[in-house]
Amino acid sequence: MKVFKFGGASVKNAAAVRNVGTVLNAFEGEEILIVVSAMGKTTNALEQLAQAYFEKLDTKNELYKVVKSFHDEIIKDLLSVGSAHTYDDIENLFIELECDLETTPDSNFDKVYDQIVSYGEIFSSRILSTYLNEAGIKNRWMDAQNFICTDNTYREGKVDWEITSNLISNKLKPIVKKQMVVTQGFIGKNKDNFTVTLGREGSDYSAAIFAYGLDAENVTIWKDVAGVMNADPKKFPDAIKIDAISYPKAIEMAYYGATVIHPKTIQPLQSKHIPLFVKSFIDPGANGTKVGVRKEEEVHLPTIISKGNQLLISISSKDFSFIVEDNLSKIFDAFAGHKVKINLMQNSAISFSVCIDNDAKKIAQLIQTLENDYTIKINEGVELLTISNYSENGFSQFIKERKLLIEQKTRNTVQLVVN
Ligand code: ASP
Ligand code: MG
Repeated sequence: MKVFKFGGASVKNAAAVRNVGTVLNAFEGEEILIVVSAMGKTTNALEQLAQAYFEKLDTKNELYKVVKSFHDEIIKDLLSVGSAHTYDDIENLFIELECDLETTPDSNFDKVYDQIVSYGEIFSSRILSTYLNEAGIKNRWMDAQNFICTDNTYREGKVDWEITSNLISNKLKPIVKKQMVVTQGFIGKNKDNFTVTLGREGSDYSAAIFAYGLDAENVTIWKDVAGVMNADPKKFPDAIKIDAISYPKAIEMAYYGATVIHPKTIQPLQSKHIPLFVKSFIDPGANGTKVGVRKEEEVHLPTIISKGNQLLISISSKDFSFIVEDNLSKIFDAFAGHKVKINLMQNSAISFSVCIDNDAKKIAQLIQTLENDYTIKINEGVELLTISNYSENGFSQFIKERKLLIEQKTRNTVQLVVN
């Protein structure tokens, strides 16, 4: 049994959806679960729509129409509209969203967000499933929310692994054995029966959750790139594809900014030794990257990962107390409370510095919590570089004329915060 994940770029228009069919033709007769993301940039569009709905803005209808006509174009090009009643099912989904938008929004924005934004995956999976059936690739559409159970952390759902893996193993697996299944990435449901999303770009993670429950033989993430590269080719023209990496190395790369795999994807796979392939949907026969080889088999290429749009925040106490246990626990409490994720940290006797993503809303709340007791200094627009297997001549080439703010080193890896 295999799990295939197709991201937004792989279903961004009718031609792309047809290409998914071409990729699948090579796997005829195999047991496959397909996890699909929203089409193209639909999630961004739905985010705006959720905001407009929540704030009761006049732009709501316009934003809805944009989403609707984007999908209509694809449907028109792809499906035999009019003949198949399945098209009515897709049309009904849009009516459902339209009706939802007419109701009074809940007071919790994150909850509202999940109920609206999740439509992207519902639309894409319905369209893909219908197209594949029409093209002779027989499959069954299933709702991921029936299997992925989360807590109530809207927009960043925490998976209940026991319930989820039992449901997948007992209820979904027998179906996948009989027939190809198309389902959604990114979404689950909580105990109150509301949709909870798993965080932006979370479809890779969904694929890993399903693979875990199915005890899949492997997972393939089909992308518009050849595989995992050792640097961002847009910034480093000499970047090359990595053929094979270990799970820990992949986790580190994803966590520190290699956007090719969602960081939460690897651990569930690692725990069951399920290999992950990252392959090109443009060149499906090519090898891509295999994640999950033993450390000894890993090729030690230098890797450079960059996380841009970072803030460096330095926190020191106003009462001249040292930044040790008491203060650190207060500071961490504030970060956890406002869900601010720390990408790198460093402390000295009198100050604590962190490098974090620049999320204006969260940061404002964080500062409000801390500013009574602490002096806070902020450096905007910094970059976090994570460089592994660097050469003898060091890494000064990556700093160039920029200012080095923090440097942390282990034997293999150096992390730099540069301005
Ligand atoms: N559609 C969601 C997003 O764009 C999930 C995903 O693509 O992985 O964030
Ligand atoms: Mg996406």
